[in-house]
Amino acid sequence: MSRPVIFDLFHTLIHGADEERDRVVGEMAVMVGVVPAELVAAYHATWRDRLVRWDVEETIRILAGRLGSTPTNEQVTRAGEHRRALGRRVLDSVSTATLDVLDALRGEGHPLALISNASSDTAEPWPQSPLAGRFDIAIFSCDVGLAKPDPAIYHLAAERLGVRPAECVFVGDGADGELAGAAAVGMTVFRTTEHNDTDPGWGGPAFATLGDLPAILREPSKVMEPAE
Ligand SMILES: [Mg+2]
Repeated sequence: MSRPVIFDLFHTLIHGADEERDRVVGEMAVMVGVVPAELVAAYHATWRDRLVRWDVEETIRILAGRLGSTPTNEQVTRAGEHRRALGRRVLDSVSTATLDVLDALRGEGHPLALISNASSDTAEPWPQSPLAGRFDIAIFSCDVGLAKPDPAIYHLAAERLGVRPAECVFVGDGADGELAGAAAVGMTVFRTTEHNDTDPGWGGPAFATLGDLPAILREPSKVMEPAE
């Protein structure tokens, strides 16, 4: 059987929109009456809470409150919608080349999964994105309260795919220690540098173009079932 392939999202399938993210948070700050640079800093400082606990509106309320503002429901809703619009734009920016790679892998029988450390502004618009229909399962940290590199999130993906972790291939840029996390549960790991050279110290195989992946997975040494 073709091995299941589990992808990271940001800097693996799509760009990370890091600068645009800060700009949008700065604009949200104006909407809720706080200093833009302070809200941007507060977003960066609370990434962990945003990944596994707070939804879009909670984040705005909590952080604005910490910065001395009590925004109205209407202000919070408006700022939240601004943030969600960014999430939709980033998901919709996926390249045709990447979609073609996913289609090629599916055509060769690889089940596809996503494990993303992402906040709810990404998870909510996912089902409407051009990526969603190509994946058998998608796991977002904000939905399951777990984030990479926690072994539990990789085990959850394998369980939902109906396979053992060791049967899976994991592909990511390497943020948050995700490559080591995947290797620790026995997955075969590939690092991609197509969008960002995030984890240059990773000693395992890497490729610069996602388009190389289908051929790599056809190599007998790579597709061989790992030992029990
Ligand atoms: Mg990434």
